[in-house]
Amino acid sequence: SKSTGRGNAVFYSSDIDSEIRHRRALEADLHHAVQRRELRLACQPLCRASDNGCVGYEALLRWVHPVHGMVPPDVFIPIAEESGSIFALGEWVLREACATAVHWPDDVSIAVNVSPVQFRSTSFASVVGAILAETGLPPERLELEITESCLMKDRASALTVLKRLRSIDVRIVMDDFGTGYSSLSNLQSFPFDKIKIDRSFIAAMDRDRSARAIVRAIAGLGRSLGIAVVAEGVETAEQRRIVVEEGCTHLQGYLFGRPVVVGEAAKDGRLKGSA
Ligand code: C2E
Ligand code: CA
Ligand code: CA
Ligand code: CA
Repeated sequence: SKSTGRGNAVFYSSDIDSEIRHRRALEADLHHAVQRRELRLACQPLCRASDNGCVGYEALLRWVHPVHGMVPPDVFIPIAEESGSIFALGEWVLREACATAVHWPDDVSIAVNVSPVQFRSTSFASVVGAILAETGLPPERLELEITESCLMKDRASALTVLKRLRSIDVRIVMDDFGTGYSSLSNLQSFPFDKIKIDRSFIAAMDRDRSARAIVRAIAGLGRSLGIAVVAEGVETAEQRRIVVEEGCTHLQGYLFGRPVVVGEAAKDGRLKGSA
C-alpha cells in the first residue's frame, strides 16, 4: 500500500517521477522520429472468409527507438496524441501506406488507422485527398479505420468529414466494434463500409457463450446492412471455424499472418520478423 509510511511514500513518488521523466523523454524523441526515419510500416493480411484469399492489408505503425528498440504503438500513440506529434506520424503512415499499396495488384486494399485527434483536425479530409493524388493510389483501395472515439465529441462535424471522405470514394471502417458506448447508434448514424469485431470477443469465444452470441449478432447486423464484417485476432483454426460459421465475411489474425515490416525498412536485417 502507498500510505504505510513515509519511506514507502517517498519510494512510490520517486517511482512515478522516473515514469514521468521516461515519458517526457519518449515524447521528445517521438517529435523527431519521422525526420530521423525511425518509423516503420508493418502490414498484416486481411482475408476473405470464403476461400482465405488475401483482399488487403492493415498498416500498423512501428517505432524503432535508437536506445529502447521497438516501442509498441499502444505506448507511443497516446503520447503522440497528447503532444501533437500524431499529425506528423499520421501523415507519414498515410503517405507510406498509399505509396506502398500503389505497387500491389489493383484488387488489394490498404487499411490505415486514424487517431481521433487526427480525425478531428479540420484539414483531415483534404490531407487524405492530397496524399491520394500525390501517390496515385485509387481512393477505393484506401480504407480508413476509425474508432468510436472519433465520433463522440462533435457528431455533426464527424458526419461531415465521413461524407466528404466517402464522396472521394475512400472506404470507412469501424474498428474495435462492440467496445464503445454506442456502437449500434453509431452504425445507424454514420456511413460505414465495414465493421471489425473487436479482438476481445473472438478471444473470449471458447470460454464465454455470450461472446459467441455477440459475434453472431454483429455478423447478422452486417449482413442486414449489407456491409462486410471482419473478425479480428483470429489465432486458432477453431476460432476461424466458429467466426465463419457465425457469418463473418473477413478474417484477420495471427492464424493468417502477423504484421510484417514492409518497404525500405524490410531490407534492414534487424527488423525481419520482429514486427
Ligand atoms: P488495432 O487497430 O485494433 O490493430 C490490431 C492490433 O492487434 C495490432 O496490434 C495487431 O498486431 C494485433 N493483432 C492482430 N492479429 C492478432 C492476433 O491474432 N492476436 C493478437 N493477440 N493480436 C493481434 P499493434 O500493431 O500492436 O497495434 C495496437 C494498436 O495501436 C492498434 O490496434 C491501433 O489502435 C494502434 N495503431 C497501430 N498503428 C497505428 C497507426 O498507424 N495510427 C494510429 N492512430 N493507431 C495505430
Ligand atoms: Ca485497426
Ligand atoms: Ca481493432
Ligand atoms: Ca484496438
